Amino acid sequence: MSLHVEGIKIAGVKSFSLIDFPGEPCAMIFTTGCNLRCPWCHNWRIAYGEEATIDRTKEALEKLRSLREHLDAVCVTGGEPTIHFGLPSLLHFLKFLGYKIKLDTNGTNPKLLENVSYLLDYVAVDVKACPKKYPKATGIEQNVWPQVEKSIEILREKRIPHELRMVKVPGLTDGEDVEFLRELGESMSGEKIFLRPFQPTSNFSGFGVH
Ligand code: SF4
Repeated sequence: MSLHVEGIKIAGVKSFSLIDFPGEPCAMIFTTGCNLRCPWCHNWRIAYGEEATIDRTKEALEKLRSLREHLDAVCVTGGEPTIHFGLPSLLHFLKFLGYKIKLDTNGTNPKLLENVSYLLDYVAVDVKACPKKYPKATGIEQNVWPQVEKSIEILREKRIPHELRMVKVPGLTDGEDVEFLRELGESMSGEKIFLRPFQPTSNFSGFGVH
């Protein structure tokens, strides 16, 4: 038996990471495109740059089949995976292969997140800034914090292991935002929060399936 994957575009696969799935090595899948325009985006080439139009889905799926022999976990990241209506199709394919799945998301599509939640073993949600600074931090006019908040509520209600993470960007996020993240994490015991410093380098030179 095999599953057909459609409605999603994959820019590449990284075969091995020790830091992108809690407690175990994983493969990484990078989907193309993003609905946000964070001015500090590390992955802009696949989010909204020249690599956003490249589709390596077929070879990526083949790679994931072969990697399953060596790895139990996979991290689906982007870009923003939840902009693709075919995300459920990809997640079913990964579950069919027997992978544990982590999803990285900006949290702006709570409806899709809820629909696929039963397939997810772990979720990392970006908290870009405190609510009033969301438009500046995401580079778009609309304030998408209410959607992100809803996504976090869904994960809490469904008791899906997850983390909230923020990148501290000079000139964009400051102590007020860090305090907001801390309070969010404190409002439910056991939730992990991570604050990462901005690193002005791109992850995507020589991007592909390898
Ligand atoms: S949500 Fe992530 S991928 Fe999208 S623009 Fe922001 S940092 Fe880049």
